[in-house]
Amino acid sequence: MNSKDNSKICIMIVPHTEKVRKLVIPRWMPKALLSLSSAFIIVLLLYISRNTTYQLSLKKEANSKSSIINDLEEENRKKDMELADLKSQNKQLQDKTVQVENKLMEIDELQRALEKMAGVSSPSKGGEAGPDISLKDLDPEMEMDILAEVLEDKKLELEVFIEDLEARFAYLESVPDLMPTSGRLTSKFGNRKNPFGRGIQFHQGIDIANSKGTDIIASAAGTVIFSGRKGGYGKTIIIDHGYGYKTLYAHNNDLLVSVGDKVDKSQLIAEMGKTGRSTGNHLHFEIHKNDNPINPFDVLKD
Ligand SMILES: [Zn+2]
Repeated sequence: MNSKDNSKICIMIVPHTEKVRKLVIPRWMPKALLSLSSAFIIVLLLYISRNTTYQLSLKKEANSKSSIINDLEEENRKKDMELADLKSQNKQLQDKTVQVENKLMEIDELQRALEKMAGVSSPSKGGEAGPDISLKDLDPEMEMDILAEVLEDKKLELEVFIEDLEARFAYLESVPDLMPTSGRLTSKFGNRKNPFGRGIQFHQGIDIANSKGTDIIASAAGTVIFSGRKGGYGKTIIIDHGYGYKTLYAHNNDLLVSVGDKVDKSQLIAEMGKTGRSTGNHLHFEIHKNDNPINPFDVLKD
């Protein structure tokens, strides 16, 4: 392959079929080609390495971006869930509001019914059920504030109403309208023939006859102001009921309460008898209004 010329290299190419070819190249060429290709390879390697680094950094960046995106998506999901939560809370609040409004209306109705029954009127105007403003379109917090105010007003109104009712019930308990015993009405209130002598006598109460020991009960709540013997009345009890009412129970066989005792309406206070000026076992019952005897049947309920 080498020629005699030192500065050149001769390359012989021997194919199978054709004739031999001779290629002459300068001696420096292989070295130059080698250095050139080495340089090229180095450059290529440098390029590849740089490129790889760049790609790696790109990939890293992409990764961090995607993690940020993931974070954002996660946050978004949380926000969505919070929103759903808030919406459901809102719904619950609205439901509660409606419930409270309904309860308020029920309370109003109840109040009206009680007013009618007890014959009292509360300070609120009738029929004003619930708040004036439609609460449906307001935001729940405002709704709650308004409801709280309405409830506070209602509370005050009901407190006054309850006071009225208590006063009314106290009055009703104190009106002597309960028949104090059972038996036969033997004498009415007013003028009558004197059962012990001649002439007309004013009968200050009513007489109810029954057997000895029949229960005598308080016609109304009150305080016992007399319990003992009282001349022709025999063993007698007098109860002060307030509101100008007093009741008297005469001719008892036995007295079961003492002066100063507080008695309830229908409480057992005595046993029927015929003590004092009496023709037989009976209760002589009087009702006094502002210290004047009145016809018990004007007050007694059947
Ligand atoms: Zn009598």
